Amino acid sequence: MIVMNDFAAEPPALRQAILGAVARVLESGWYILGDELKAFEREWAQFCGTARAVGVANGTDAIEIALRVLNIGTGDEVITTPMTAFATVLAIIRAGATPVLADVDPTTGLLSIESANRCLSTRTKAVVVVHLYGQLRDMADWERFSDRNGIVLIEDCAQAHGAMLGRRVAGSFGRIGTYSFYPTKNLGAPGDAGALVTNDTALADRAARFRNYGQSRRYQHTEWGMNSRLDELHAAILLERLKWLENFTAHRQRIARQYFDGIRNPVVNPLAPPAESTAHVFHLFVVTTPARTALQAHLRQRQIETLIHYPTPIHHQQPCRDIRRDPGGLPMSERHASSCVSLPCHPQMSDGDVEAVIAAVNEFRED
Ligand SMILES: *Cc1c(COP(=O)(O)O)cnc(C)c1O
Repeated sequence: MIVMNDFAAEPPALRQAILGAVARVLESGWYILGDELKAFEREWAQFCGTARAVGVANGTDAIEIALRVLNIGTGDEVITTPMTAFATVLAIIRAGATPVLADVDPTTGLLSIESANRCLSTRTKAVVVVHLYGQLRDMADWERFSDRNGIVLIEDCAQAHGAMLGRRVAGSFGRIGTYSFYPTKNLGAPGDAGALVTNDTALADRAARFRNYGQSRRYQHTEWGMNSRLDELHAAILLERLKWLENFTAHRQRIARQYFDGIRNPVVNPLAPPAESTAHVFHLFVVTTPARTALQAHLRQRQIETLIHYPTPIHHQQPCRDIRRDPGGLPMSERHASSCVSLPCHPQMSDGDVEAVIAAVNEFRED
């Protein structure tokens, strides 16, 4: 079976390094908010080209904490996309703010600025741009959009570790960028972990207090915070996995190039290839097709796993039916959700696997 993720097939040298990191933490006897986290925060900030990184418990909390330290909450509206992980919208709700959904661009699945414009109101305080599937596009436009409207730009980078536009890395464009290190992400922990990155040191300091019960120094609490810490075991493992990230990303990009070159089927359309001078990190390689169910069955028969990201746009989820949205509706999100499918694209795939996927996709006939 050619699967969507294959952690068991990771290089033995990486496995050894992870076991070494675990041993190091156990022997240190220090498990929460220690030197491993400090080192990981330093390296992650450097990787993202930001002044600071603050480790938290997961990517959902990273978004919630970003909003909370920006004082965005009750009565404030936050524009985002219905074509994202449920977590993006859940975090906005958890922060007490009101999500407003704008439509997506059909060629990329990314948030549309025209639609976001139609979602603005006097209560809009922020836009959360999601770098869906690992794409990083149009950030100059989003910076202009947020400046012109006096709102805050937040980047949900949970799928975009190391994505670049020119020389700048995902997370360095907005006031705050948020990351998830959920196992399947391009940089994943063997469990839950996350971080936020920012150039604003005061915001970073507040986030570092906020994740630790709002504690400024031992047993002094300056505000209602959360318990959302990235523990030493995960930080130590992430430090080891980070050493492999560039190599793994390059592998994903090679696979994507092979797919773009090799997939020739009139009913299977890859999303827009990355623009010049950008690095798309291909967390997912997504195609759209009017014959999705048949294509998935055809590939499954040939031992190829696929998944759908995401089958249900946020506004069709049970608790979201009344969420405010573009007054023109969200037709592109609905179309994308009903036609998108993700092909295997992970760093443990062989050339033979990639060729097998291409051949199977090209053989597919809609009938
Ligand atoms: C995975 C993901 C999240 C949530 O991250 P968790 O670590 O699972 O909380 C948020 N946004 C997007 C776009 C994601 O892909």
